[in-house]
Amino acid sequence: MHADRQNAEALKHILNQYCQNSGQQISAAKSSIFFSGNTGVQEKGEVCQILDIMTESLSDKYLGLPALVGADRSDCFKHLIDRVLSKTKGWKEKLLSLGGKEVLIKLIAQAVLVYVMMVFKIPKNICKGMTDAISQFWWGDEVDQKKIHWQAWWKMCFSKDKGGMGFRDPHCFNIAMLSKQVWRLLCEPDSFCARVLRSKYYPDGKLLSATMKKGSSFTWQSVLTGLECFKRGYVWRVGDGKQIHIWNDNWIPTSNNLKIQTPHGNNLVTTVDELIDPITGRWDENLIRDLFWDIDVNRILQIPLIDGREDLVAWHYNRSGLFTVRSAYHCQWKHKFGSNPLPNYTSGAGPRQVWPQLWKLKVPSKIKMFGWRFLNGFIPCRGILANKHIPGSSSCPVCLRGCEDLKHLLFTCSRVREVWTPLGVWERIQRLMNIDRSGAVLMEEVIRLGGTIPNLNDVGIAELILTGGWYIYGGRDVS
Ligand SMILES: [Zn+2]
Repeated sequence: MHADRQNAEALKHILNQYCQNSGQQISAAKSSIFFSGNTGVQEKGEVCQILDIMTESLSDKYLGLPALVGADRSDCFKHLIDRVLSKTKGWKEKLLSLGGKEVLIKLIAQAVLVYVMMVFKIPKNICKGMTDAISQFWWGDEVDQKKIHWQAWWKMCFSKDKGGMGFRDPHCFNIAMLSKQVWRLLCEPDSFCARVLRSKYYPDGKLLSATMKKGSSFTWQSVLTGLECFKRGYVWRVGDGKQIHIWNDNWIPTSNNLKIQTPHGNNLVTTVDELIDPITGRWDENLIRDLFWDIDVNRILQIPLIDGREDLVAWHYNRSGLFTVRSAYHCQWKHKFGSNPLPNYTSGAGPRQVWPQLWKLKVPSKIKMFGWRFLNGFIPCRGILANKHIPGSSSCPVCLRGCEDLKHLLFTCSRVREVWTPLGVWERIQRLMNIDRSGAVLMEEVIRLGGTIPNLNDVGIAELILTGGWYIYGGRDVS
């Protein structure tokens, strides 16, 4: 409210009324007032006196959220990066394994952000700062890793079954959370919040076609950002058809973009109710055939019509039609990164089927992580480091012969034969090496083929080779 005598007295009156009616009392000692920067000393004094609240709140946060978002938004949200850093910092010295880091990142670093992301559009540079901090934590500080960031963050956000780590992209998640606000405004149009926003920003009640207005509050700008995402996934369930715009709205569930494909042209019809025969309550098939391309005709005629129901907004990406942040996140993620290819082989082949098999192996998570790194080529052996133009010898520290790449490391080095032979897998490895394959592809074949070794209590071959590989890699003397 505007800080002056009149407003303060009105507020005092409302509060008194509330206290009288409810029997509750306001504790003046626990109350505080937050003034914006341009309030004069005299006005402040006056307002405080009328309300009988003497504490001026100097904190710019309310329930952990910034109370006043100024022109420089990044400033208000910088503390988010600090919070991520502080959550990860305490763990650094303890040399968590990648498996432990995965859990920590998913549990803590991401949970910290949920609350603030629900309400505000976080500036992009802040999202980047947060992913940088998490990424630093993920890749850094293991003894031999030399802080190489092996993979871009967004690739780590692919699901584990697609070769990523299933981390969350904060920017996409933020937008998905904001589109939940849109869903709330639609589902609870009589809530206080919806009434306030509607009266100011969409008095016609059409939230889906609301736009930015001059002097829009940051809250509203945030809602509009959510609306962009929401618009890609909502779909009208046709009732009487009165609220649905034929050419602009999503109302064709079987269409790729949920819209009519026929161009608008000079067609005069605008809302869906004009396509429904008022007497029979069915689709006006002749009219529809006149107006639309065949593909649209078929799709429209498939939509069931239920008499006497109002049009309803549903969420397309959930079978029940109810909005979920999870599905909105995937929708937003696909929109942002969908045209990018999946993380690839080091050899550049297509998407791999091996990932689900890797994660199902019966080995500790550190061994699975080793497998994940190996298949991706994220192992700092000398040949790979040399390829990355990191100074140092590229030759194998064990046999001193040949370049130490992944294939040499686990399959062709003279020493590994001494490991694989007594375990009974050397012949099998040799057979796989008849075809010229890279180390990563060899490992993939091992995991894909599976099988067990009867002489060794039916231990899985993939499990054995991966675990053996982990010891070979960890045990080599690189000093
Ligand atoms: Zn060697």
